[in-house]
Amino acid sequence: MKSRFSSSLLVILTILFTLYSCGAPYETQTLFAMDTVVTVSAETHSPDDLAAAAETLAAIENTFSRTREDAEIAVVNTRTESTLSSETEQLLAKALEVSKNTGGAFSPTLGRLTSLWNVTGGGYVPTDEELAAALADCRMQDVSITDGTVSKPAGLQFDLGACVKGYAAEKAIEALKDKGIQNAMINIGGNVAVSGKPQKAEYWRVGVKNPFYPDELLGYITANDGVIAVSGTYERFFEKDGVLYHHIFDPATGFPAASGLKEAAVYAKDGFLADALSTALFVMGEKRASAFYESGVYAFEAILVTDDGRVVVTAGLKERFVPNTDAAFDDTRKLIF
Ligand code: ADP
Ligand code: MG
Repeated sequence: MKSRFSSSLLVILTILFTLYSCGAPYETQTLFAMDTVVTVSAETHSPDDLAAAAETLAAIENTFSRTREDAEIAVVNTRTESTLSSETEQLLAKALEVSKNTGGAFSPTLGRLTSLWNVTGGGYVPTDEELAAALADCRMQDVSITDGTVSKPAGLQFDLGACVKGYAAEKAIEALKDKGIQNAMINIGGNVAVSGKPQKAEYWRVGVKNPFYPDELLGYITANDGVIAVSGTYERFFEKDGVLYHHIFDPATGFPAASGLKEAAVYAKDGFLADALSTALFVMGEKRASAFYESGVYAFEAILVTDDGRVVVTAGLKERFVPNTDAAFDDTRKLIF
């Protein structure tokens, strides 16, 4: 009797130990959502666990897209007054707040301007008159949100392209956590949310591209949680008469931002903020971005790469960022870390 008991105990302990030491298997899934490639890697318990992430992304896209006719934001854009769902109310209110706090560098109301330039659809360089007319329809100050209702001028169009991917990455990770998945990573076109750890290491390593040679890495950030968002000019742009026009606009001029930065990466616990601020810092440029960081308005860390090849890393990120000291500026020079 005694030996039967101890042998079954041994079997149970062995099973427990095996489960504990191996953990559940990790799976990786690639899909297309939000106009970009999405990769989800997570420790899964059942084959359809990862579906929760994909469903979350689909729901967010169906709400915040401005090109899907029946998306809430697309409908809001066609009206001067709309009653908002609580998720949209919260997101728009936050967008307006971040816009204010970044001195307008991040602006969620640039829809008319981004449509005019049409960077992803081939590109068009507008005339001064066209630009002035579009900018008159992009004024964040003309928007108000009260008691779940948004009011705006007829011509003003929300474009949440600079914040919704980071927001979605964080929400998708939350959806996986609700399924009991603690170890996960999701990459939505360069907006990467992580939780826990990968299969064979203690930290996720999130690569940041070298903006001068985007096939190479500038380095990587180690993290167990939070979102890393990157804004650069090397993925979405067009060329006209030898000039490159990219997709991140300076709301003050209506032109692609030319702030002296080639790339801005932001690490924050809040995915919306990481994404919105990567765009904002890119527009601000090194000096304004550094002052903004020092002001402490928001909790975030950042990496800025200047047009002349310097890499500026904020104090709180120095221990987490592992630079690729071979990263090149051009054929003869390396980046300066
Ligand atoms: P990506 O979408 O490539 O990850 P960003 O997060 O920087 O890059 O977002 C850029 C998108 O945000 C643009 O395609 C445009 O739709 C919109 N946008 C451009 N300039 C601004 C700005 N200053 N503030 C807010 N949104 C912007
Ligand atoms: Mg962004």
